[in-house]
Amino acid sequence: MTQSFNSLTEELRSVAQDLLREGKVNMFIGFGPGTLTARTTPLFISKPDAAAELTWSPFCANNLAGYLLDYRETNETIGVLVKGCDSRSIIRLLQDNQFPRSRLVVIGIPCAGLLDSEKVTLELGPQTEIGDVTDEDDNFLVITTTGQHRFAKKDYLLPKCLECIDSNPVICDHFTGKKINKVNELEINEGEVNERFAEIKSLEALSPQERSGYWDGYFQNCLRCYACRNVCPACNCRECIFDQAGPDWVSKRNNLSENTAFQIIRALHVAGRCVDCGECDRVCPVNIPLRHLNQKVLKDIDELFDAPMPGTDLEQQPVLGHYCADDPDEFK
Ligand code: SF4
Ligand code: SF4
Ligand code: SF4
Repeated sequence: MTQSFNSLTEELRSVAQDLLREGKVNMFIGFGPGTLTARTTPLFISKPDAAAELTWSPFCANNLAGYLLDYRETNETIGVLVKGCDSRSIIRLLQDNQFPRSRLVVIGIPCAGLLDSEKVTLELGPQTEIGDVTDEDDNFLVITTTGQHRFAKKDYLLPKCLECIDSNPVICDHFTGKKINKVNELEINEGEVNERFAEIKSLEALSPQERSGYWDGYFQNCLRCYACRNVCPACNCRECIFDQAGPDWVSKRNNLSENTAFQIIRALHVAGRCVDCGECDRVCPVNIPLRHLNQKVLKDIDELFDAPMPGTDLEQQPVLGHYCADDPDEFK
């Protein structure tokens, strides 16, 4: 199905404008144009006319659901735009009682995958202006001031999009556009679609020494900037263990041992609650493949408990967050 992003953008603007004009939301969180080619930025609007600044394209990377945490103590009703993976965070925030459903209007949009903005910028140059983008199923056709460019999805999508399980939002009050088929049905090699957890399986096949070397190589570079924690919708404790002055659970020293402790503690704190939105991975300034860490936990939980992806079902409690009184095992 060929679909133009300019027409989807127009539809989205109209939905946001109506919600603001009718007073159904006090604020709408969407995307606006970024300062560079192939970038967008989160946009917070509270006036109907500002809806004209909204945009939608395969460069809308941020998971906007995470910003709801900044408004949990206000009285505002917020409209938020979500893709399939982001929508799972909405369910998790509702299940964690982090945001009341009554103050939330979810606008869903079908997502045909996100283009890796760094790869696209390398091809187009940093200042090239992008006009329209069209989804051609296997490619995105990008019209720029310098002509037409086709980007094959199998080569230019973000890794998480090649394993996408929810191309359409799992929760929304308004749906913009038309539902689409799953992105992960893309043919990656001849006759093969992308296998979920393929990279995790290769890491599991390494020896313990090789695995340790793999992670040490990355963790020694961690800046402890906490961007991965701050962007994460599953990291929603009001007081984080890493910010506490006392008790001093984890030292603030920046070395391999403390950095590794930070990474492992964070991965376990979001175990069973991480929705695989990939934001931690995307924002890390030193390119630590955090998604591999979180996906390993996701895969283990999937195998141990046969649990669905967190955030796919509002009624399903997180697998590590509830207990049954008739559990055959004793609590010790
Ligand atoms: S994982 Fe799916 S819904 Fe999320 S950005 Fe990628 S294609 Fe879109
Ligand atoms: S741990 Fe990373 S992938 Fe998981 S919910 Fe948080 S930001 Fe998203
Ligand atoms: S974003 Fe990267 S560098 Fe910053 S704390 Fe997280 S892992 Fe470390």
